[in-house]
Amino acid sequence: MTDNNSIANEKVLLEIKNLKKYFPIRKGFFKKVVGQVRAVDDVSFFINEGETLGLVGESGCGKTTVSRSLLRAIDPTSGEILFRTANNGVVDLASMPESDIRPLRREMQMIFQDPFASLNPRMNLLDLVGEPLLVIDGMKSRSQRTERVAELLQLVGLRPEYMQRFPHAFSGGQRQRIVIARALALNPRFVVADEPVSALDVSVQAQVLNLMLELQQKLGLTYLFVAHDLSVVKHICDRVAVMYVGKIAETAPTDELYYQPRHPYTAALMAAVPVADPRVRSAMVPLEGDVPSPANPPSGCYFHPRCPFATEICTQELPVLEEVTPNHFVACHRVNELDLAGVGEPRKE
Ligand code: SF4
Repeated sequence: MTDNNSIANEKVLLEIKNLKKYFPIRKGFFKKVVGQVRAVDDVSFFINEGETLGLVGESGCGKTTVSRSLLRAIDPTSGEILFRTANNGVVDLASMPESDIRPLRREMQMIFQDPFASLNPRMNLLDLVGEPLLVIDGMKSRSQRTERVAELLQLVGLRPEYMQRFPHAFSGGQRQRIVIARALALNPRFVVADEPVSALDVSVQAQVLNLMLELQQKLGLTYLFVAHDLSVVKHICDRVAVMYVGKIAETAPTDELYYQPRHPYTAALMAAVPVADPRVRSAMVPLEGDVPSPANPPSGCYFHPRCPFATEICTQELPVLEEVTPNHFVACHRVNELDLAGVGEPRKE
């Protein structure tokens, strides 16, 4: 990674270096460790202040484990998570004890996927949105909390009069607005959004995405946007990182990635995006087969059993992530031979 893309550069808010998260596989009466699930395996990327990085891939590729590791919701096995704090210091979240991370939690928040599961049905909006103010900020005064919750509800497009209502009184889109208001209660600088619209009807997805964009501009937020839906990512992200079996396959600015994907897996994901016209066909055959198990990945390039361009070297050597054009990184042995431009573009029969 060049210096421009490392935490040494002041515009970089977060740099992940060689992050690994392995889960032990235990068997037998004594729960002996017999293997490892390599959920995240040597992942590196950076996020600039004020930008949105999309992290995409099929289910089970490790994107949620990355996002949970970098907020230390789970402890990484190894690697560095370098974060620029509000006072311009740089800390390694991966090696910090929980007691030192706690004060930083206000700067980093998460928006969860399912607004139906992430809101306690027995709490009204005042308590739900005001809980972080009470627990983390120590704001004991109810009137102060009420004032701040009213402000937050207005910020996300809900009426402050709703404060005494319970989550069941709201639609899916409104609930996700409540989740966003709660995440913003402590004025975070960095927000991890884990599939924030995938549980919503298509008709309200755009509203929530537009709200997130508006809030980003208004509050200067930085997002890591985790998704499996490439059309959603295109709408909101500045750059995209594509994951496959715990590794980054490709990362590039969004427009470039969509215009000219360089990794066959990215191209295949794009070909799988449905187009609302039965006469339109994609230029690349959509993916067949399943994602291999991270407990027992294939030799060489993990994608080779599904890759239409695989050759002998692909079955033997693991490709490394290399910068092919400025800010465009690809892990593929054949990156300079393949021309995948336009594969994501639909074509008429
Ligand atoms: Fe396909 Fe080989 Fe590239 Fe892997 S390294 S994506 S198998 S061409």
